[in-house]
Amino acid sequence: MDLVAVVTGAARGIGREVVVRLRAGGYRVVAADVSPGVADLAEAGWVVPVVADVTAGDAPAAVIGRAVDEFGRLDLLVNNAGRFLRRPILDTGDDDFDLLFGINVRSAFRFTRAALPHLIAGHGCIVNTASISGLVGVTNQSVYAMTKGAIVQLTRQLAIECAPLGVRVNAVAPGAVDTGFMDEARAADPDPAASLAVTLGNHPIGRMSTPAEVARAIVFLAAPESAGITGTILSVDGGYVAR
Ligand code: NAD
Repeated sequence: MDLVAVVTGAARGIGREVVVRLRAGGYRVVAADVSPGVADLAEAGWVVPVVADVTAGDAPAAVIGRAVDEFGRLDLLVNNAGRFLRRPILDTGDDDFDLLFGINVRSAFRFTRAALPHLIAGHGCIVNTASISGLVGVTNQSVYAMTKGAIVQLTRQLAIECAPLGVRVNAVAPGAVDTGFMDEARAADPDPAASLAVTLGNHPIGRMSTPAEVARAIVFLAAPESAGITGTILSVDGGYVAR
């Protein structure tokens, strides 16, 4: 039996690596992203790209429905789409709050709700992409950190609520990962070299993680062999939180 997955934020970075690894592991995948770049993941019968803004009202039904229409079932939802914001609170507007909560939190909630009936019928599993910013205090990330704290609690809450339904819910909590996400943070940073030095200093392994390292953790949590794991927040942070 081939397992079927939906991955959001799949065009690049961690999400793209998750799609590639799931496909290599024999999953059939619907890869959703607001970026048209997701199209180049297409592989007939195996990977179906869907261009969708996860915050759009009809996106959860459209993306989840596409998986069920195309492959007849759904076993795994990876809520990975996310936006970052590093900004002092006094410069952070209500629009920033609404934008980040819309993408990072509300969409994960809505995709989960749309997927759950299918996951209950299938080999039910959800993996959310949280962050170390949802676990420990960080600098100038009030809104982003709140969104990831919400994802951590959504994960724990649903692990308990969904266990009787046969659905496992886990999250990864990456530290800094070298993706386009970091490129954008650097571009908005008045002193990117100094910030990079601080970032690397905060990660005991002395480097950022790679998207492949985070994707590997997501695929591990998703695997049927991980049936005993639910409610876990698996850090992939080079020792950041341990420090
Ligand atoms: P990335 O920017 O490379 O990829 C994020 C993807 O999400 C992009 O393809 C983007 O187009 C997509 N996306 C953004 N808004 C969307 C929307 N409204 N609808 C659909 N797709 C949307 O970043 P990444 O590092 O791969 O981030 C993936 C996840 O990892 C995010 O949830 C992020 O918060 C989390 N994370 C990243 C880091 C890091 O340092 N890179 C650290 C901790 C957590």
